[in-house]
Amino acid sequence: GPVLAIESSCDETACAILSPTGECLAQRVVSQDGHADFGGVVPEIAARAHLALLPGLVQATLQDAGLKPEQLGLIAASTGPGLIGGLIVGTGFAKGMALALGKPFVAVNHVEAHALTARLPGLVPDGADFPFLLLLVSGGHCQCIAVEGVGRYRKLGGTIDDAAGEAFDKVAKMLGLGWPGGPALEKLAQEGDASAIPLPRPLMGREGCDFSFSGLKTAISQKLAPFGQNPLPRQFAADLAASFQQAVADVVANRIEHALAMMPEAKLLVAAGGVAANSVLRARLQKVAAHHHLRFTAPPLRLCTDNAVMVAWAALETCREAAERGLPHPDDSAIRPRPRWPLEDMAARFTPLDT
Ligand code: ATP
Ligand code: MG
Ligand code: FE
Repeated sequence: GPVLAIESSCDETACAILSPTGECLAQRVVSQDGHADFGGVVPEIAARAHLALLPGLVQATLQDAGLKPEQLGLIAASTGPGLIGGLIVGTGFAKGMALALGKPFVAVNHVEAHALTARLPGLVPDGADFPFLLLLVSGGHCQCIAVEGVGRYRKLGGTIDDAAGEAFDKVAKMLGLGWPGGPALEKLAQEGDASAIPLPRPLMGREGCDFSFSGLKTAISQKLAPFGQNPLPRQFAADLAASFQQAVADVVANRIEHALAMMPEAKLLVAAGGVAANSVLRARLQKVAAHHHLRFTAPPLRLCTDNAVMVAWAALETCREAAERGLPHPDDSAIRPRPRWPLEDMAARFTPLDT
């Protein structure tokens, strides 16, 4: 039967139902409001909102798909990494459903779900076969990951301070653009000159493919200091936005060059996460990939940002992988939510336990 999945690791409450072959039968996402006034996600507010939203959302998604709960074959949820309150709500809800229906529960690693999204049937024209290089750039993550197979991930590098989306959000806030700031900053940057204001390129050219964005943020606050409480001239703000975006694109392109050198076997470059929506960044990644004779792809925005389709798909891939390795069907009812859950740990779930 179909798989129903729940996503609640951050500030998106989402539910999706996929057929056993990965066809999307229904999906809903609620991006919680109520955080904007605080300029960031407030964990307590998020957890309460997940709790309030989930029952109705799951019921509506089932209705969209024209399914009764008894017709489901599998229940899945993001069980980490993420904000513990939301994870407890989503995991508890999904486990409760599984128990009541007598169906297996599959625990999904949220980052693994982002990593496997490109493999959803029909998404990438020639398919996203392993191995591929994944750039995950969101509000909470900034990593280069060698995706070698289901459960086989190697982190090649990651941020040593802020995530890319976090940097976009903080800079947007300094420019008075509200939250989340990425889309507003990109829009303002279109009116600006990307070479107008010199900014640093943190870690660019350095060995490996780690990222750093805090120096860029500091440089921008210094450019803004002379204005004090006075309103920013529109053109200056636009130039600053464009220059910042350019700096991020330069750094990310350089880091990806290095990551590709660390992973010569990659057949494809995949970008995912909310920041992958940025068109300047996309264009740069496209160029880097072409230079290395690689295909480049980024899932459509609704699948780049947090959603439950990717969670359902990761659960299906996990079940298929287990079956191919001759292991029993996963039943993760004993797995508890994990605020931290490194991708490297995913290999363990395919290691048969000694009896
Ligand atoms: P997680 O990190 O747990 O995956 P998240 O909710 O923080 O979840 P996403 O929903 O994937 O991350 O992405 C949101 C981030 O993407 C925000 O920081 C937002 O500013 C950024 N973003 C969205 N659109 C753009 C854009 N066009 N340009 C730059 N950044 C963008
Ligand atoms: Mg979000
Ligand atoms: Fe995410």
